[in-house]
Amino acid sequence: MAGRAAWSVLDRAAQSYQLPGFGKSCDMVLLREYQNRAQKVQYILAYGGRIIANQTEIDPFYPSSCRQKLRVEAAYRLNEALELLILSELPDRAVQWLDLRGLLAQVDEALFVLYARAAQISVWYDRHRFCGRCGAQLESDATELAKNCSQCGLSVYPRISPCIIVLVTDGERCLLAHNPRFPKGRFSTLAGFIEAGETAEMAVAREVEEEVGIRVRNIRYAKSQSWPFPHSLMLGFFAEYAGGELVPDGDEITEAGWFTRDNLPDLPPPFAISRYLIDRFLESL
Ligand SMILES: [Zn+2]
Repeated sequence: MAGRAAWSVLDRAAQSYQLPGFGKSCDMVLLREYQNRAQKVQYILAYGGRIIANQTEIDPFYPSSCRQKLRVEAAYRLNEALELLILSELPDRAVQWLDLRGLLAQVDEALFVLYARAAQISVWYDRHRFCGRCGAQLESDATELAKNCSQCGLSVYPRISPCIIVLVTDGERCLLAHNPRFPKGRFSTLAGFIEAGETAEMAVAREVEEEVGIRVRNIRYAKSQSWPFPHSLMLGFFAEYAGGELVPDGDEITEAGWFTRDNLPDLPPPFAISRYLIDRFLESL
């Protein structure tokens, strides 16, 4: 599990939080003191699997001027300067929840990764409190990003759900589709979860055929993107049209069509991997 070792877990048990550089365990943290001792460490606060926004809602980093005491259940280091604090109860003041989608639209890729990590750890922490095998309580591992069962020893790691997302092309035109959950008039690439036992390429071929009824060939990997809604990993592909009639499945896809540079519909926002695939294709023409 070398890849997971870079994650530093600062807390072992609920209600006992070892503050880095603080020298004692406690379950109440005065954030201002913590900020001073930890020196330049900022924090993201989460409760119940969701991230708490500060006043601006753009920036979830908690202000250093905060004097409120918070009950911290666990803490995870995201990098040298940023930690995720998972609260066991909400602060007294009214909280606003972070609009993660809105935030992700405004940040660069490095910050996107940090927010995606924070969001996914928060959700995982909240949804994995008891062992799926024996039902005993799970405890945070001291050295890696995991929780362990105190009774049977089962370890659980943050769940990551791989999906494929694919732009199907045919010469100078590309296939874009409308999902009922999209805003009106928005068209995007096709996407779907990889099923147990499938390769990513098999999932591409299956999803395209299921959603719009056509066959594809020359499936090529492009890039990936963490998609924390709530824990997807999007694997982006290009594929070429190989035959069949375009027929939307009427469920996941209600409308689909071939588009050229000159008749593009409303596209996904620039930070989404679907838009990356579309833009790369348009640039290649
Ligand atoms: Zn167990």
